[in-house]
Amino acid sequence: MEINLISDTVTKPTPPMLKAMMEAEVGDDVFKNDPTVNALESKVAEMFGMEAALFFPSGSMVNQTAIKLHTNPGEQLICDKYAHVFNYEGGGASFNSGVSCRLVDGHRGMMTAEQVEAAINPPDFYHSPLTSLVCIENTTNKGGGACWDFEELKKIRKVCEEQNLAFHLDGARLWNAMVKKGESPKQYGALFDTISVCLSKGLGCPVGSVLVGTEKHIHDAIRIRKILGGGMRQAGFLAAAGIYALENHIDRLADDHQKAIEIGDVLSTLNFIKKVEPIETNIIIFELDETKMTSQAFLNTLKEHQISIIGMGQGKLRIVTHLDYSDDMHKNFLEVLRILG
Ligand SMILES: *Cc1c(COP(=O)(O)O)cnc(C)c1O
Repeated sequence: MEINLISDTVTKPTPPMLKAMMEAEVGDDVFKNDPTVNALESKVAEMFGMEAALFFPSGSMVNQTAIKLHTNPGEQLICDKYAHVFNYEGGGASFNSGVSCRLVDGHRGMMTAEQVEAAINPPDFYHSPLTSLVCIENTTNKGGGACWDFEELKKIRKVCEEQNLAFHLDGARLWNAMVKKGESPKQYGALFDTISVCLSKGLGCPVGSVLVGTEKHIHDAIRIRKILGGGMRQAGFLAAAGIYALENHIDRLADDHQKAIEIGDVLSTLNFIKKVEPIETNIIIFELDETKMTSQAFLNTLKEHQISIIGMGQGKLRIVTHLDYSDDMHKNFLEVLRILG
């Protein structure tokens, strides 16, 4: 049995999801004539209590579009040093929008409102780039699936209002945070100017992310999406998977979270593991005691058992639980770990 835990992006559509895709009514979405894409966009906008939404092929393209919406070339955005928009979007912030990133040294990918305030360049000091946007990520990816304290987000919102900054949420795994903390999409919709959410991570779709914001943001975002090459034609086949996932795959994320905690519990008992970071959602980040077992040796041993996990650099390893990680795989994986330790 092959067990792939490198990411929650490795899932394949379930039979009922595939059925929903096959039965989708489609049209040309570049002409806004795809009823299923339109339905998905309305559904997500309504969930978040925001005016409008737009379907995209990837989360990176949504974040890049949001950065473009909120900035002009030469300006600066503020984000945590772990942020996906800085680390994992191919330098897109500078390539697409000509902006620099002011990195904040936060905790597990999360900043305080005080840190954000201190990172803002005074708007009348023309020697420095003009700060125009704050980007945060929930859950944090490189931060190990950590969830923000909603009160801190409200404080950052206040700073953004006072300093006239846009506030964007990279919510690739916002579903996981909301399930974990019992929060609602509308709470987030009320706090941010724009939000990106992924359908292709924990929710199990093959492709797709959504940008939510005002009518004006979405109107402008259509042009940016076109420029980035993200206009898709009969995308309703993909949007149908999204609608299915929103209706069937959100609550079950709690199961991924439970499995992650159980994996962490076993990891903590192994003699060659130095540290397991706190586990809140479906991501487990841990470090080995390399004097006892090197990361490469550990990865190789797991490979022999047909188990894949991934290195994060700096001696850290990552495991992500997901929809295709079954109860049987879970039992098998825990057994293999116990034998190794
Ligand atoms: C996966 C992810 C994205 C989007 O990634 P794509 O692969 O471009 O869909 C954005 N932000 C975070 C935090 C992510 O984990």
